[in-house]
Amino acid sequence: MARAPFTICPSALDEITMKTSTYNLLAFVGRYAEAADSVRNPGDCAIVERGGVRRQLVMRCPDGCGEVLSVNLDARSGPAWRLYKKRGLWSLFPSIDKTSGCLSHFILWNGRVLWCSGLGEDEDSNDPIEISSDRILVVLRNRHTASYVQIADELDEVPWDVLVACRSLARGGVLEEGIGKQRGTFSAKARFA
Ligand SMILES: [Zn+2]
Repeated sequence: MARAPFTICPSALDEITMKTSTYNLLAFVGRYAEAADSVRNPGDCAIVERGGVRRQLVMRCPDGCGEVLSVNLDARSGPAWRLYKKRGLWSLFPSIDKTSGCLSHFILWNGRVLWCSGLGEDEDSNDPIEISSDRILVVLRNRHTASYVQIADELDEVPWDVLVACRSLARGGVLEEGIGKQRGTFSAKARFA
């Protein structure tokens, strides 16, 4: 149902004012059928977990179309999304980009659905977790240039939070973001490196 999982929509994070709603992780279950049964309302999610491994995230599409979505969480069975729990909040990376049905494209981030297309009437803002510039600069001193995903891996943080922090540092003249295909890749400006 979803395109290559490493499609991301960092452009959504340029403007943090977008239609948002919430999602709820309701249950950890052993089988897909149980997960699909438990997700009744838009934004309801359940995790299929077997043998101590999270296999799938099952979700009732948050746009209200009624579809039940399933995304792979198990890297052994192909390209996988990553689920994070930080400070009590669940996030998924990368985005969910539906290529059929309602064609919704959204991010699940710190308990909010961030829509990647279409401005809703109920605009709201997300509150990224603040990642300190010191932590990001330490990574960039070692690597010189790194994507926000690599930085997030090193810091054990959610990539969306790191992207917002890096973009804010770029606006403040501390970091520089690449352009074109290098979008999402950051380096420290000379005097901070
Ligand atoms: Zn939908």
